[in-house]
Amino acid sequence: MSAPQPLFNRLALIGVGLIGSSIARAARAQGAVRSIVATARSPQTRQRAAELGFADQVVETNAAAVAGADLVIVCVPVGACGAVAQEIGPHLAPGAIVSDVGSVKGAVLRDMAPHLPDTAHFIPAHPVAGTEYSGPDAGFAELFVNRWCILTPPENADPQQVEKLAAFWRALGANVETMNADHHDLVLAITSHLPHLIAYTIVGTAAELGKVTESEVLQFSAGGFRDFTRIAASDPTMWRDVFLANKDAVLEMLGRFNEDIATLTRAIRHGDGDTLYEHFTRTRAIRKGILTIGQDSAAPDFGRGHAQLQAPPMPRPYAADNE
Ligand code: NAP
Repeated sequence: MSAPQPLFNRLALIGVGLIGSSIARAARAQGAVRSIVATARSPQTRQRAAELGFADQVVETNAAAVAGADLVIVCVPVGACGAVAQEIGPHLAPGAIVSDVGSVKGAVLRDMAPHLPDTAHFIPAHPVAGTEYSGPDAGFAELFVNRWCILTPPENADPQQVEKLAAFWRALGANVETMNADHHDLVLAITSHLPHLIAYTIVGTAAELGKVTESEVLQFSAGGFRDFTRIAASDPTMWRDVFLANKDAVLEMLGRFNEDIATLTRAIRHGDGDTLYEHFTRTRAIRKGILTIGQDSAAPDFGRGHAQLQAPPMPRPYAADNE
């Protein structure tokens, strides 16, 4: 997995929260780059990044960070990517690859591309890995191992540069897939964005129940609710931006979801056990498929207790399964 020699000379990370700091830690651990320069919006985060020491240099401005970098990865919320591109555009080294990690790709492509010079290679990316934690302390080098990273290069992207970025992500332990931005947004709307919306909804609904007390909700949360609470603890800024930026695809999937939930509602109301049984049998098969391709664990409690015991360097008890 480790890169035989550095793939890039100087990696610039704009934003060093969970994802940016994990990239820094992983790139260093794997020797994927010669040096790492990092920056963040607030002095507090920059100071914390310097204390944690996952970058060789922490600088104050985005312009200073990208100077001389041959790989620039923007790791800020999707809604902030356009403004960052505008800031860094004039300061990029000729031939630099510019990428990002945003959970929505169409909007990032639209917002960033106009500000980047023709001499840079713009290749958006989305590592489908994460946790519900945020900030520079939350990152860890193993976050991307055996997770997917989806690249969404524009049509005119140079294939050699796309391959170079793919090699970088593979060096960090990820599997790499390439697709166009619109398709990415549709796929992630159902696999990630809608599940987060459902989690945010159900946890809110439970919190407002009158007849079931809050302590009962917490006490009996192992009955399924606990997993929703973990997802619903995800960063509000990040997820606000995801739903604003992927509006059309999420609304399309939400429409389908509402139709399906209406079918199940009818089945429950009419005591139609066959419909319920058939539906649950189909979904069980999907879960088995996820286990078969190694994207989750069949261990009790989804292997979380196990992950805690087996992987002490991971600062959090949960394996990476947000995105
Ligand atoms: P995070 O831990 O909250 O870190 C966000 C970083 O962006 C911080 O350095 C923050 O700086 C900076 N930032 C926040 N708002 C900004 C703004 N308006 N302008 C400039 N910088 C700003 O977030 P994260 O989880 O690393 O997420 C970063 C990106 O990764 C997002 O686009 C998200 O969609 C994507 N992503 C997240 C996950 C996940 O599970 N978390 C998974 C895959 C992809 P300060 O600390 O100084 O405010």
